[in-house]
Amino acid sequence: MSNPFSKLWHLRETSPLSFRMLGYILVCSSLFTLFATGFQVYIDYRKDVSLVDQRMKLIETSYQSSLARSLWSLDQKLLKVQMQGILNLPDIVHLHLRIYPDSEISMGEIPPEIPTIEHKIMLQHSSDDVYDLGELTITASLEEIYKLLRQRIFLILTTQAFKTFFISVLILWIFQYLVTRHLSRMANYARSLNINELGTELTLERKTHSGQPPDELQRVTDAINEMRVTLLNDVEKQKNDAAEIRRLSMAIEQSPSSVLICDHRWRITYANHKFGQMTGHSLKNILGKHPKELTHISPDETQNEQLWNNIEIQVERAGIWQGEMHSTRHGGEKFWEQVVITPIRDNEGNPTQFLILGEDISVRKRYEQQLLRQANYDLLTGLPNRMLALDRLKLALAQSRRDNSKVGLMFLDLDNFKHINDTMGHDAGDSLLIEASRRIASALRGNSTVARLGGDEFLIILPSLEEPEDSEVVAQRILEAFAVPYMLNNQEVFISTSIGITIYPTDSESSSTLLQQADAAMYQAKNKGKSAFHRFTPDLNQQSRERLKLETQLRKALEQNELLLYYQPIIETATGKLEGAEALIRWDNPLLGLVAPDKFIPLAEETGLITSIGEWVIHKACEDAKRWHQETGWKLTIAVNVSPRQFRDIKFVESVRHALLSNDLGGEYLELEITERLLLDDSIETYEILNQLDQMGVKLSVDDFGTGYSALSYLKSYPFDSLKIDRSFVKDVITETEDAALVSAIITMAHSLGLKVIGEGVETAEQLAFLRKKGCDYAQGFFYNRPVPEQEFLEWIQTHKHAVVS
Ligand code: C2E
Ligand code: CA
Ligand code: CA
Repeated sequence: MSNPFSKLWHLRETSPLSFRMLGYILVCSSLFTLFATGFQVYIDYRKDVSLVDQRMKLIETSYQSSLARSLWSLDQKLLKVQMQGILNLPDIVHLHLRIYPDSEISMGEIPPEIPTIEHKIMLQHSSDDVYDLGELTITASLEEIYKLLRQRIFLILTTQAFKTFFISVLILWIFQYLVTRHLSRMANYARSLNINELGTELTLERKTHSGQPPDELQRVTDAINEMRVTLLNDVEKQKNDAAEIRRLSMAIEQSPSSVLICDHRWRITYANHKFGQMTGHSLKNILGKHPKELTHISPDETQNEQLWNNIEIQVERAGIWQGEMHSTRHGGEKFWEQVVITPIRDNEGNPTQFLILGEDISVRKRYEQQLLRQANYDLLTGLPNRMLALDRLKLALAQSRRDNSKVGLMFLDLDNFKHINDTMGHDAGDSLLIEASRRIASALRGNSTVARLGGDEFLIILPSLEEPEDSEVVAQRILEAFAVPYMLNNQEVFISTSIGITIYPTDSESSSTLLQQADAAMYQAKNKGKSAFHRFTPDLNQQSRERLKLETQLRKALEQNELLLYYQPIIETATGKLEGAEALIRWDNPLLGLVAPDKFIPLAEETGLITSIGEWVIHKACEDAKRWHQETGWKLTIAVNVSPRQFRDIKFVESVRHALLSNDLGGEYLELEITERLLLDDSIETYEILNQLDQMGVKLSVDDFGTGYSALSYLKSYPFDSLKIDRSFVKDVITETEDAALVSAIITMAHSLGLKVIGEGVETAEQLAFLRKKGCDYAQGFFYNRPVPEQEFLEWIQTHKHAVVS
């Protein structure tokens, strides 16, 4: 069906724009053609009509006079001939001649329905007068003219119609070529455009003229392509955003913190996995709920309500709330949560949602409470520790300031606790401390505080005392509580305690001074012979001040060369020969005078100064031994006292080796005197160290034997060479049979272990005789000589030449 109509229809379908344009061209050009044709036809018509008119006028001029003459002469024949002549002229169809007064002649016929025009000619005779003879009416037919006109109109219209048609087709084609096909292409391009295929750009199938400004189509194309690029970028951005959002939501979902999101009216809209895990709530049960329904800070609901009101205000105004919250798990269990709440705002800054991050801190909380307990309480006994005790002391002092009462402060130290710890083990020591603290507490009133300061030291605060003496009653009660033996390792053990008492405000108003005073008083109680209490007296204060002075001076003693060694001879009992000497330290201080070791050695041990002092002693002793040997040729062993504390110094063995080497001295010239205390201290690798010293050839002896707690058999495993019987036994060997028996037993047993025996503190010939009889190998004491400075010692040897062994 490819008739023109269907084509037109097709065009209308495919290119409505072209179709419409065609319509406009046709209508406009037709109207124009019609108008132009009409105008043209009208002009032609007027011209044809005027031609007829002219012909009428020509008839008038050429026939008027001859007709008038024929009429005047009444020559009817000629008249008719003349009229016939006029009628024969083209277009003239009818003649009507009125002859005045009353006749007329008509010739020809006016055909019906034919347009005509008429022309009147007046016929007159003129001589002297003018006579109207008649009137001729000529009727001309316009039929010819109309026919011509119709032909012309037809011609014009058909040619115009053809022209219009061809021009329209041409324009249409040009329009198609230049515009609509590109438009269709754009349409197709736009139609097939989707976000997944933005890669290809729109191009038009036509030649581009470089250098020329882009035409409208090009501009549209460019615009489309620009749009495509923008779209491409947007899509890319959107993809990135989507990935970002995916990542973030993944992070939120897998976050170790619980995450809740609420809408602007604080209704829960989201909960992450962790939230469910932590609280046991399922999302569908809490959706739409207010988070406050999940927290309960106290049984009182209004408090929870208030908390959340505050939170809402703070989050909306300040932008954040954080704190700890008591929340409830699904099962009703309460737990502590660390919560951070922040708003999520829109572009205008208005909060649209709220983010609630939570972390279960129950464990931390518990740990904190435990730490708090640990910080304030002693783990072993459960008593307040030093910190809490000082706090309570301050409170008690403040209270007593208000009500004018007195506060008693007691310092309590168990007697010989270290010994129990060392011999029976730490477990026994621990149970002793627990039981002791129980006994102390049982002797106190309700408002008193007992605290463990550390080790075996306790502090007791007695608030609201009426009389200072009341404290002594309490102290007495405590001592009595300790009178009952303890059961440790299935053994009955007696442990006593020494108590120092000071009173606020009688003795001092400052808590630190009170503590010092109580401490000093406690030492005084120990000096009294233990298991005693002592009220602080001002001269005690003096003592502790002196102790402090001593310590300051001692720290400077070494560098100011205030230390020196005294020597006391050690003699072979059987022969009276000089075997060696014991080096005994002295401290010559310009302020304090000559200080005996009993006074400062314990202090040096406490402060750790003993390490450097001890090192100095060994070096000095080795130096002296070497010099004596060089100057006199005597081979004397120098015995040096070593405190257990020195053994804790990991460089001890090395420093001994160095002392020997630097003086080029054999190990056998040096003897180290060690007390049993060392063997009890299991924090030191005693065995190891003693063996190393033994391998260096250094002699080893047990000092003050008998005062400690070790059995003889105990010494077997150590490489000792000799033991020194403590002078307290030697002192009474003559008077006390018990001591005599003990000394002789020690000597026998020591010999059976292959140890030499030295008797200390021999002051009389009787004592020496006893020892000699019992087979004691060596003796030392005032009987021979007191400890004296080196020079005096050398002089003593000179005067006692017989005793020197070469
Ligand atoms: P120790 O090791 O038992 O020393 C013997 C003590 O007995 C000396 O006291 C000495 O003077 C005294 N003595 C000696 N013979 C007699 C006597 O016949 N009768 C009496 N009543 N006493 C006698 P000193 O010199 O006052 O030393 C006391 C303690 O100081 C020593 O006891 C020793 O444990 C310690 N010591 C002395 N020098 C040092 C040292 O350089 N290092 C260490 N760590 N401790 C030392
Ligand atoms: Ca000694
Ligand atoms: Ca001794």
